[in-house]
Amino acid sequence: MFSKKSQKLSIYNSLSGKKEPFTPILKDHVGMYVCGPTVYSNVHLGNIRTFTSFDVIYRYLTHLGHKVRYVRNITDVGHLENDEDQGEDRISKKARLENLEPMEVVQKYTTDFHETVRKFNLLPPSIEPTATGHLIEQIELIKSLIKIGFAYEVNGSVYFDVVKYNITNNYGILSKRKIEDLIHNTRSLDGQSDKKNPQDFALWKKAEPKHIMKWESPWSKGFPGWHLECTAMSKKYLGENFDIHGGGIDLKFPHHECEIAQSNACFGTNAANYWMHANMLTLNGQKMSKSTGNNILPDEIFSSGSPLLSKTFSESSVKFFMLQAHYRSVLDLSNDALLASEKGFNKIIDAISILENFKDFSDNTSDFDITKWVKECYDAMNDDFNTPILIANIFEAVKFINKIKSGIAKISEKDYNILSETISSFVFDVMGLKKTNILQKGDDKLDEVIDIILELRNDARKNKNFELGDKIRDMLKDKGISINDSDKNSSFTID
Ligand SMILES: [Zn+2]
Repeated sequence: MFSKKSQKLSIYNSLSGKKEPFTPILKDHVGMYVCGPTVYSNVHLGNIRTFTSFDVIYRYLTHLGHKVRYVRNITDVGHLENDEDQGEDRISKKARLENLEPMEVVQKYTTDFHETVRKFNLLPPSIEPTATGHLIEQIELIKSLIKIGFAYEVNGSVYFDVVKYNITNNYGILSKRKIEDLIHNTRSLDGQSDKKNPQDFALWKKAEPKHIMKWESPWSKGFPGWHLECTAMSKKYLGENFDIHGGGIDLKFPHHECEIAQSNACFGTNAANYWMHANMLTLNGQKMSKSTGNNILPDEIFSSGSPLLSKTFSESSVKFFMLQAHYRSVLDLSNDALLASEKGFNKIIDAISILENFKDFSDNTSDFDITKWVKECYDAMNDDFNTPILIANIFEAVKFINKIKSGIAKISEKDYNILSETISSFVFDVMGLKKTNILQKGDDKLDEVIDIILELRNDARKNKNFELGDKIRDMLKDKGISINDSDKNSSFTID
C-alpha cells in the first residue's frame, strides 16, 4: 500500500559532501532556515532560483506530511559591500546615495521581494525575521562568545577569533578550505588592522561618524556583523540544533562557514544537521552582472521585456524552466531555453485539461502501469529533490494522456483517479506551478465567465445602451479577447 509517510528521502549534505538519509530531529517535524535577501536592490533572478529551490523543498516536505517551520530572514543591516568585512553597509550606502532613510530602502526592496516571490507563487515562510529586529539576541551572543574566549574586542569592534577556534574545532568543515590558505588578503584594508588574524570576522563593528545605521552596545555605538544575525535568529526560532539550513552556493563561504563556527563555539553544534546549497543561474553562458548588461530582472521577463529576449514569458514558464534543472546544477538561461520550457510547460497544462474533461470510463483496464509511475515520481523527489527526473516522468504521463485522447490507449476509472491526483499534486502543490497565465479557449471556467459577460452585454445592447456594450468590448479587447458580433448572437476568440 502506498504511503506518503513511508517515503525514504535522501538529501545531499554539503557538510559531508554526499547524499544522506533524511531523519528529522523530532519525528514528523522539520526546522528549516534559509538565508533570505539583503534588501538594498531589486531581487535578481539568481536569488529567485535559490528561493524557488527551497520553496519546492518546503512544499515536498509538507506534502510528505511533515510539519515544517520554515524561517527565512530579511537582512536589513550588517551586509557589507565586500563579504570580508570591508566597505560600506549595503543598505546604508543605498540610503546615502538616494537620500533616503535606511528603513525606506529596506521597505522599498522588501516590498519588491515579496511581490516578486508572490508572482512566482512561492509560499511565504512560517517566520520572516529581520536582523534589526534581533539586535538584543545578537548582542547576547557576542557577550557569550567573548566570555568563552572565542571573541575579542578592539577599539569598540568585536571579532571572532578564527585561529583560536580552529585549535579545537574545524574552521573549513563546510567549505573544505584550509585555514592557512585563507591568509590570502594581506593588504591593509579599512577595519582589518584591528584584527588579530586576517581570517577573523567581525561580530560587531564600531560605526564611523558618517555611518547612519548604528545602535548602542557594551562595546561601542555600532552595528552587528552579517554572519551573526542568522545564528541569532535560527537559534531563537529553531533551537541550537535544527534540521536543514539552506542558501545560495555563494553563501557557503564565508557566510555559512562563519555561522557554523559561531554555533559550534556557542552551542557545540553545526547549527543544522543538513546544509543545502542551491546553485547559480547564468545568462547566455556568463555570470549575470548589472555592470556588463548581462542581466535580466524578473519583471523584464514577464512584463516589460528585455533586449535579450524575443518575447515575455509567464512566471510559471520561467519557474518550470528552473525546475527542469536539478537545484545543485548550474543553470543557464537563454531565450531558446525559455521558449523550449514554455512549450513543454504548455504541453503539461494541456494534458491536465484533457484529463479534467475526460469522462469515458468504459474500460476496466489501463495501458499504463500507474503504480510504477507513481513510485517513480516519488523516487525522483526522494532522491535529493530531483525535479528534472520528476518532470521527465510527468512527460511520460503526458504522452499517455495524449494517446487516450487520440483513442489509441485506455485507462480505468481507478487509474484515472490516481493519475489525475498525482499529476496535479506534483505540478501544482509540489512544484507550485500555476495555469492562470495561459488563456485558452476550451478552458471551461473561462468560457463560462466570458459567456456571462457576453449575455450581459447583449442585454445592454437590446436596451440601446451601446455605450456600455462598446465599453465591455474594448475592455475585453485589452485583455486579448475579441468579440465577434453577428445578427443573432456574439462569439469570442482569444488572441
Ligand atoms: Zn544567513
